Amino acid sequence: MDCRLRPDESHGGEGLTAARRLDGTACAAQIRSEIAPRIAAFIQRHGRPPGLGVVLAGEHPASEIYVRNKIKTVAAAGCYAELFRLSAGATLDEALALVTRLNAREDVDGILVQSPLPEGMGPGAEQRVFDALDPTKDVDGFHPYNVGRLVQRRPTLVACTPLGCMELLEREKIPLRGRHAVVIGRSDIVGKPMALLLLHQDATVTICHSRTADLPAMARTADVLVAAIGRPGFVTRDFVKPGATVIDVGINTLTTQAEVFRCFPEGSRKRAHFAEKGSVLAGDVHPGVEEVAGALTPVPGGVGPLTIAMVLRNTVTAAENRVS
Ligand code: NAD
Repeated sequence: MDCRLRPDESHGGEGLTAARRLDGTACAAQIRSEIAPRIAAFIQRHGRPPGLGVVLAGEHPASEIYVRNKIKTVAAAGCYAELFRLSAGATLDEALALVTRLNAREDVDGILVQSPLPEGMGPGAEQRVFDALDPTKDVDGFHPYNVGRLVQRRPTLVACTPLGCMELLEREKIPLRGRHAVVIGRSDIVGKPMALLLLHQDATVTICHSRTADLPAMARTADVLVAAIGRPGFVTRDFVKPGATVIDVGINTLTTQAEVFRCFPEGSRKRAHFAEKGSVLAGDVHPGVEEVAGALTPVPGGVGPLTIAMVLRNTVTAAENRVS
């Protein structure tokens, strides 16, 4: 399959080669087809499908979309998926009580609490809720038990986004052993588990963050560069060693013309999309990186679909582990 960007998707000038496109949508479809027999076997053996309970608190437009996509994908695969809503004014105790109820439900094998929780729940609420999950149902891999198992290289349930990135790297045959991987971002849900997973594949790993000195120079030493920052177009071509593989985890919604013009060149499809719709998605990686990188994930259609495929896979794994 020719995965190179089509000429109208590239922002390169004449004579410049566009990076190979790492197609997360196709990879996710392949993963779902591999999981299908496991779901069928589970249903046949246990007379019920693997079940996922998703907790959504408050009104957060991006979370609504993420949750809808996760539930849709898990249900379409033949699993049971149910949404449990808490109001924006719900208390931490109410969230904890809901988690306790879901922990006790026999038909719910996986529980996912969509982040962020409403600010009104107080500082540290998210960690309190993750701590309250039954670790065997923690499909996001955020419970300290699952984090500890990952650190010790005997993982059970691993955070879906970094796990999805690793699946893509493996299936696209990107070499990791002995290579230098740089992860920009040190969050508990993406940056840190990503760094651990790369380390466990024998990469030499550097974690960069907002206090890293001379970040572009550090990033330029990477054979594999992972951007998980949450700043549109932050990683520009001067961050990238020619031929490096770049994984763009960022999902940023741009709603102002200034942001769109900074990130996307004149004549690009993204500018046209913004003119029509009033908003557009951008990754943490600037499109100019296409001209330097050897391989690059698009946004959308890169890491996002893989995250959702890993929610499905972790749900099935949790179900299988619970009954075995
Ligand atoms: P976060 O805000 O928790 O962490 C961001 C990290 O970036 C921090 O560790 C911080 O140190 C670092 N950072 C911030 N500013 C920086 C700077 N100027 N220089 C260097 N480092 C800097 O975010 P997160 O939850 O890890 O998510 C990161 C991005 O990934 C967001 O855009 C988020 O929407 C996206 N995301 C995507 C998926 C997916 O499925 N594709 C899943 C989760 C998160």
